[in-house]
Amino acid sequence: MSTCIFCAIVARAAEASIVHEDEHTLAFMDIRPFTPGHLLVVPKAHASGLADLDPEDGRRVFAVGQRVAAALRDGSVGRPGEPQDGPRADGVNFFLADGVAAGQEVFHVHLHVIPRAAGDGFGLRGRPTSPRRPDLDHLAGTIRRRLGA
Ligand SMILES: [Zn+2]
Repeated sequence: MSTCIFCAIVARAAEASIVHEDEHTLAFMDIRPFTPGHLLVVPKAHASGLADLDPEDGRRVFAVGQRVAAALRDGSVGRPGEPQDGPRADGVNFFLADGVAAGQEVFHVHLHVIPRAAGDGFGLRGRPTSPRRPDLDHLAGTIRRRLGA
């Protein structure tokens, strides 16, 4: 794990601006933020992708993401009568890339928490398609079988 930058951050062997820490998770500022306040939530236990992520850690990472998102959207960060001293999001995106094809660059599972405001320039490039119901049903059946249902 010595080459994993997020494990190094967890071990305090690499620098990070930490937002939250508990027994199982760490949240810290992304050093290449899409928007001000963009941060990452990681499990402390190394997992390179979703396939080897302990589902309990997945729940914990998502729960911390929810708490952090609420803090980002909180309009009362500053004391009453004082200006806000941090990002205040009008919305929040969660983003998790699993695998190279999905854009994963650091192979330690991480949930991006991205504060959003109108006109901030961040967005997904994908364009929705309009498949027919039989095609959706066929795909659903295939995936159900893989789930063992
Ligand atoms: Zn790691």
